[in-house]
Amino acid sequence: METQKRYRDEKHECMSREEMKALQSEKLVKQVRHVWDNVPYYRRKMEVRGLKPTDIQSIDDLHKLPFLSKADLRDAYPYGLLGKPLDECVRIQSTSGTTGKRVVAFYTQNDVDMWEECVARAIVAAGGTDKDVCQVAYGYGLFTGGAGLHGGSHKVGCLTLPMSSGNTERQIQFMQDLGATILCCTPSYAAYIGETIKEMGISPDTLSLKAGIFGAEPWTEEMRREIEKSLGIKAFDIYGLTELSGPGVAFECEEQTGMHINEDHFIAEIINPDTGEVLPDGTKGELVFTSLDKEAFPLLRYRTRDICVLTRGKCSCGRTLVKMAKPMGRSDDMLIIRGVNVFPSQIESVLVKMAKTMPNYQIVVDRVNNTDTFDILVEVDDSMFSDTVKTYEDIQKTIANELKSVLGIRAKIRLVEPKSIPRSEGKAVRVIDKRKLHG
Ligand code: ADP
Ligand code: ZN
Repeated sequence: METQKRYRDEKHECMSREEMKALQSEKLVKQVRHVWDNVPYYRRKMEVRGLKPTDIQSIDDLHKLPFLSKADLRDAYPYGLLGKPLDECVRIQSTSGTTGKRVVAFYTQNDVDMWEECVARAIVAAGGTDKDVCQVAYGYGLFTGGAGLHGGSHKVGCLTLPMSSGNTERQIQFMQDLGATILCCTPSYAAYIGETIKEMGISPDTLSLKAGIFGAEPWTEEMRREIEKSLGIKAFDIYGLTELSGPGVAFECEEQTGMHINEDHFIAEIINPDTGEVLPDGTKGELVFTSLDKEAFPLLRYRTRDICVLTRGKCSCGRTLVKMAKPMGRSDDMLIIRGVNVFPSQIESVLVKMAKTMPNYQIVVDRVNNTDTFDILVEVDDSMFSDTVKTYEDIQKTIANELKSVLGIRAKIRLVEPKSIPRSEGKAVRVIDKRKLHG
């Protein structure tokens, strides 16, 4: 119980708005000074705007600060945004490179501790205590998933199983033999483990699992229910990005209605991605974070490109931390096909309705004779057949029509055999855009 109390940080997770504002303001003033003194790249950005550290007196002045974007991180690669000398840094992690060149982030020991404490809060919010066996099936290595959950699990005092991703049958074997109670991995890998358990004829009731902590990629509510059923658990979302430390920037509580942001360490804003204007709570836009405590890689107003909504309200868990909705894709996930904007999540939501289970699909875009081709491979599932939809042609037609009405353009649906689309052990690859290869 000791550890659970320690990482359910009542003081910070449940403070009043006024107290939080005061804390954030105090930390922001210090952080701006730290960046000004130690990160010439950002100081120049401030100077261009005629800003001095003294212009930032509280979080009400936050909007004056310039944004940082992924392009800045690439520009400054690898050391240009360092806030501490390298010999004070103890760790490097890197993005998965889902959308282009990787960026690297640096950590001092304090940064690692803060990060792991954020993850510990997430594990405790999912019901974790020092009595739990926590199976970490996120990839270990440069990717922050493995390291982050591993560190958080240690802090809580769970018995930590550092499995990394892959070797699914061994995952299941250990899960059974060592009585894992909490599973941590990407939602697509959790779905794959669930599928494999079923194939192996193992009933979820015979497992000790009670909770899952899944994140690092977008997933739908339907996918959550499906995973919960297949593994016999309650599934919790966790969000983060390497640039800000890794998973644990935000985490879900038992209410499962969005993720609480660790606001004592990160200030969140939502902006209009086109104009940069700050939008009020409840409005959809791009999520921007300011790290308040990070020493080695202190990012101010970092544009995540994740599209979501912030909401403030009373939560039944008692936490007062602002909540972010599940980000359903990033602005740069958006495909432009024949001039029409298409988000993979729109396609997933249509397929989920059709199949009533989690769809396995892949979007393939190419350019032939100067025209974009748009194919969607969909694994056929028994649940797709109904009274009105009886044949393969019916399925194809229904999906194509449904998608046309949602997207405004027609896709060629190609039904494929069950299990023919590769399963993911990390972040799922839903889109193959061959146009990029032709330049
Ligand atoms: P990369 O940008 O190369 O994927 P990261 O591994 O740092 O590098 O991934 C961070 C990104 O992953 C976030 O910006 C977000 O787009 C996505 N992500 C992380 N957690 C979630 C989540 N719970 N739901 C949706 N997307 C998430
Ligand atoms: Zn809550």
